[in-house]
Amino acid sequence: MLPAEKLKTQLSDLSMNLWWSWNPATIKLFRDLDPDAFRTSKHNAVVVTKGLSPDKLHELSQDATLRARVDRAHRELRAYLSPTANTWAATHAAPLRVRPVAYLSAEFGIHESLPIYSGGLGVLAGDHVKTASDLGLSLVAVGLFYRESYFRQHIDRQGQQHAEYVNLPMEALPTTLLRGENGEPLLIEVPMTHERILAQVWQVNVGRNRLLLLDTDVDGNSDDSRRLTARLYFGDQRVRMRQELVLGIGGIRALRAAGIDWGGLHLNEGHSAFATLEYVRLRMEMTGSDFWTAAQDVAQSTVFTTHTPVDAGHDRFPPQMVDEHLEPLRRSLGLSRDEFLGLGRIRPQDGAESLCMTVLAFKMSRYANAVSALHGRVTRKSWQVLWPHHREDEVPVGHITNGVHVRTWVAPAMQELYSQHIGPDWLDRLADPSMWARIESVYDAELWETHRALKASLVHFARRQVSAQRRRDGYSEDLVESATRALDPDALTIGFARRFATYKRANLIFSDMERIKRLLLDADRPVQLVFSGKAHPADRPGQDVLRNVYESSLSAELRSRIIFIEDYDINVGRHMVQGVDVWLNNPRRPQEASGTSGQKVLLNGGLNMSVLDGWWAEAYDGMNGFAIGDGLTHVSPAEQDRRDAEGLYRTLEREVVPLYYQRDAHGVPSGWVARIKRAIRTMGWRFNTDRMVMDYTRECYLPAAGTQSCAMPK
Ligand SMILES: *Cc1c(COP(=O)(O)O)cnc(C)c1O
Repeated sequence: MLPAEKLKTQLSDLSMNLWWSWNPATIKLFRDLDPDAFRTSKHNAVVVTKGLSPDKLHELSQDATLRARVDRAHRELRAYLSPTANTWAATHAAPLRVRPVAYLSAEFGIHESLPIYSGGLGVLAGDHVKTASDLGLSLVAVGLFYRESYFRQHIDRQGQQHAEYVNLPMEALPTTLLRGENGEPLLIEVPMTHERILAQVWQVNVGRNRLLLLDTDVDGNSDDSRRLTARLYFGDQRVRMRQELVLGIGGIRALRAAGIDWGGLHLNEGHSAFATLEYVRLRMEMTGSDFWTAAQDVAQSTVFTTHTPVDAGHDRFPPQMVDEHLEPLRRSLGLSRDEFLGLGRIRPQDGAESLCMTVLAFKMSRYANAVSALHGRVTRKSWQVLWPHHREDEVPVGHITNGVHVRTWVAPAMQELYSQHIGPDWLDRLADPSMWARIESVYDAELWETHRALKASLVHFARRQVSAQRRRDGYSEDLVESATRALDPDALTIGFARRFATYKRANLIFSDMERIKRLLLDADRPVQLVFSGKAHPADRPGQDVLRNVYESSLSAELRSRIIFIEDYDINVGRHMVQGVDVWLNNPRRPQEASGTSGQKVLLNGGLNMSVLDGWWAEAYDGMNGFAIGDGLTHVSPAEQDRRDAEGLYRTLEREVVPLYYQRDAHGVPSGWVARIKRAIRTMGWRFNTDRMVMDYTRECYLPAAGTQSCAMPK
């Protein structure tokens, strides 16, 4: 093969497996190949690779250094994919090797160049799939292919958010169509009462594992159905139900069409719970058993993770809507209408009660879990009605606390520091507390310098983003210019980025403007704020909060100290969690099930300042970050807000600011660095997805896989 051809093939192999996106050397390789194309395409390696002209490829192939880098990356990918690789799962989860876990989720946040996610749920799913791959755990993920993604956020000068829908570049995605033996794209059929919906299936390689994405934009569907999977969390209840039918029923059919004999079924949130019914139907067909026997078998192999205590987060569909869609399935299950609807009801006989996807998921799974210890308690209390004969603490819902994928979220400079100081094999021992204890031996000054460099790069990124935003929107030269000078790389920098759901109270810190101004504008010990986040297009109150925050970032007095970065996504998130000193989280307790963004911060040398909710309620030990309030809740939300605002200001004024600005003779804040080290030592081993996926494997996947095979005679 000619050197240029070989280079092209290698780059194409690398770009078509998202493994490249969690390996610092490969990321740098694609950036160096074409920095502009890489940046403007949202870091899309396929765009970069396809954009290389024959001349450019020829030129690159003459560059021995570059060729060596590509060779090395390609070798590493091949070694990673080798079936004989020595992985954690090869030793600890051998039975799952032949029977992968099927993992269903409505969103997957793997990388910014494949935007089929909206927030935490998707990013968690993405981190789960990547980690399963790293651990050698065989898993097939199933989701929907949103051609127009969630939405791009544009904020106008009045602070009003606009949702923009942009088509993904279909010709430049790391996706391939699943095809049948005849070479034609496989078509999945989702039967409904009066029609059927067809879907094709895109396959994405995520390291050793695969992600299958159903896409209804195919010939043979009505216009409505073609658009069904175009956008995430969009449209009315009916659209929502149909999307969930495609995900659940279509998902099981896609797995079968792809020839996958799965061991356990993992429902990441209730959206995909229809999958269990389709699976029961299949088992009835295979074994000839009745519904109840087959349902028991399916439940035995099904894991359900619930992700929110917020009531609106649980989908409910009225009985007539269920009739309109699920008659064929009900009939093939041999159930009466009441029996069928009862599967998703708290009181099965209550004819008026809607079908709730969370109830269905609980009833159809043997393993159910919440995503933090506190969320476990809240969930057992809320759903005890489903287990009337159990005491609240006996309700069979446990918890597996969320984590984050370290290779994705920890800055290369920090990874380098860990590898030098805590051991070259640190990435293979992420869940080992004794390994993280070695952080204490790192010099304060070195840790601090690494963090300062990351903060400087966040400041640079924020200035670039915001000045470009303002230039594009025709702001005055003064405002554009001020963005290029906003933020001080040495000031105490607080980050806040998440969905602008009202319970997350993004503007709590502005409850008392005079008080926050004193902190922001302090000449000797200034504080600055970096915000980002989207409100759902239908969430007016959330958009009002956003406007409120955005306006402060434009005020003449505060604009050098408050920055709002538009269009929060994995890329913006990565810069923020890697560069801030403090990550602020102040939800109304106990509505945050877990939260993961603060976990990304801690391994990058930032500290959390948070209400004792979600993961923080079990992580905070008094010295490894900062707490807002005392973990109590008040019946009146207004009173709760008032108390939490007071708690926030007090923590800032009395603990955070003094500790940050207290420096030793070399200018290092030694008390602060001690806290960073304590954070890394006490939390690093727990709040990562290696620990999380190992927990799922031991507690759910292995027991769930024990029983039966879904394999049908061919
Ligand atoms: C990590 C992450 C989230 C989830 O963070 P929370 O703490 O749950 O808010 C949401 N969106 C993006 C882009 C993320 O990277």
